[in-house]
Amino acid sequence: MYFHGDRNKKNIAITFDDGPSEETLNVLAILRKYNIKATFFIVGKMIKNRESIIEAIKKDGHEFGNHTFSHKRLWFKSKKFIKEDIQKCDNELQIFGIKTNLIRFPGLKYGLNAIKICKLLNKKVIAVDFITLNQFAWDWFNPWLKKIGLIKNNIKIDKVVKVTVKNTKNGSILGFHDYLQEIGPHPELSPILEDILPKLQMKGFDFVTISELLN
Ligand SMILES: [Zn+2]
Repeated sequence: MYFHGDRNKKNIAITFDDGPSEETLNVLAILRKYNIKATFFIVGKMIKNRESIIEAIKKDGHEFGNHTFSHKRLWFKSKKFIKEDIQKCDNELQIFGIKTNLIRFPGLKYGLNAIKICKLLNKKVIAVDFITLNQFAWDWFNPWLKKIGLIKNNIKIDKVVKVTVKNTKNGSILGFHDYLQEIGPHPELSPILEDILPKLQMKGFDFVTISELLN
C-alpha cells in the first residue's frame, strides 16, 4: 500500500475520488489553468450518463484509478464480491480504452481479503499521505456537517487549505472528492482547489500522476 512517493523529490500527486460527477468538469478547467496532471479514482456505477466526463478526463491526459464499481466498504466482504466489484469497474473503464493497475479502497477501508485480491489482480493499492485526526484536512467534512444540520451556511474552506498546505511534503499523495456520497457533486471543491494549487506550486512542488510519483 502506498501512502506517498519519494521523500527526496519535490513531486506530489493530487487525486480525486468518487466521480465522475458534474463537478469534474470544473476540476478539469482548474487543472488546465495551473497545468497540473491529476489521478481520478473512478466509481464504476457513476459512469452511466456521464460517459462524456470520462472522455474529458482522458482527453486532458490525466491518469485513472479504480475505486470499485459499487463503492461498498471492502472490509467484511467475501473474496468473490471484492474481485467482482473491482473487475466490474475495470470493465467499465475498458470501454473507453482505459487500463489501470491502481486501486483505492472505498473509505480507505479494507481487510485481508481485499489485500489478497489486489495481489491476485496485480493492483497497486493507493492511500493518501496524511490521515490526520484534524478533520479540517478532509475536504468532505464541511459539506457533511451541513448535510446533517450541524452548520447552516457558508463555505469554510480556509481550514482545509491551511492544513493541507502545511502538511504536504515531498512525495505526498493528496486526496479530494469530485463527488460526495449522499450529497452529490462537491459544492466546495473548486474554491478549495483555486486556493490550494497555486499555494503548493509557490512552495515549489511539482504535480505528477500517481504512476509518475511511484516510478
Ligand atoms: Zn470514495
